[in-house]
Amino acid sequence: MGEDLEKLKQRLPLLDYLRQQNWCGRPAGQGTEFVGLCPLHPESRPSFYVNARKNLFYCHGCGQGGDLIRFVELSLHLSFPQSLAYLQQQGVPAGAADAREQAAVFYQQQLPRHPEALRYLERRGVHDPALIEELRIGYAPGGNLRRHLTNQGYSLESLQRDGLVHRQGGDTFYRRIVLPCGQHREVVNLYGRSIDAAFPHRFLPGPKGGLFAWDLVRHFSTLILVEGLLDLAVLWQAGFRNTTCAFGTHLTPFQFHQLSEQPDRVVYIVFDQDENQAGQRTAHHLARRLVGVSVPPRLVQLPAGRDPNSYFVAGAAAADFADCLEGAHPL
Ligand SMILES: [Zn+2]
Repeated sequence: MGEDLEKLKQRLPLLDYLRQQNWCGRPAGQGTEFVGLCPLHPESRPSFYVNARKNLFYCHGCGQGGDLIRFVELSLHLSFPQSLAYLQQQGVPAGAADAREQAAVFYQQQLPRHPEALRYLERRGVHDPALIEELRIGYAPGGNLRRHLTNQGYSLESLQRDGLVHRQGGDTFYRRIVLPCGQHREVVNLYGRSIDAAFPHRFLPGPKGGLFAWDLVRHFSTLILVEGLLDLAVLWQAGFRNTTCAFGTHLTPFQFHQLSEQPDRVVYIVFDQDENQAGQRTAHHLARRLVGVSVPPRLVQLPAGRDPNSYFVAGAAAADFADCLEGAHPL
């Protein structure tokens, strides 16, 4: 778990967390207490009190009370360990998100200047300039981020701590397409996808956040879940805007909670059709878990050896993919 409980509660005060969740409270009495409508039960007159000094809440309407962890348990229906895991993913240390945001902006500016990066995107079927802009796709040529950020006042130590610069002092990302992963409009992590086969794809240290672009997709009544950001990119480009991604096949408890928060939502799982069946096995496992929480899953079969990205790159059109969705079987 890493971070200890008290430190976590200090880093993320209950009142700040509630405000991030759009809770409106007004001061009640002596300054450190706030009152507003209870987020845990329907009510028309405020009975939910937060004591900012004690970092505790109590609702006179439903009788619930406790600390930040308790609030997350109750509001998201998570167990204690799940709530902890969720909170540890909320936000990154002060300053890191900021530096990562600046890095994302810088990498975006680099992209059009490097034909090798544009050629790579083209090869991976990503060509719509509006989509590239929307996903904030950038390019790290390597060797120029550190200077750029230290000129902006970031210390070398902080950049190393955030993972943007490695221990030897060079840029972590080198010849990589970079995609920011955001949460609450904050860059939580950066995904660096090597344009040469030699280097593995990687994230910066720390959490990757929830499901990709959750704020944009959560209102859809059907969702398409894919493994990777380049799968997502070609699907968005083809008009399947209800696609999200968990950055791999194993969902964190929080990502699973997001996926299952609405019981009637149909979830299409489109993992890679690899030869060793690993993607299919994890897809099955996830589908069974979704059934367990009354979310109807559909397992989507692509032609052998394909993932959504390579399927489109090989020439599939939106109608072909729609056929695959149609042919998907419930568990
Ligand atoms: Zn209440």
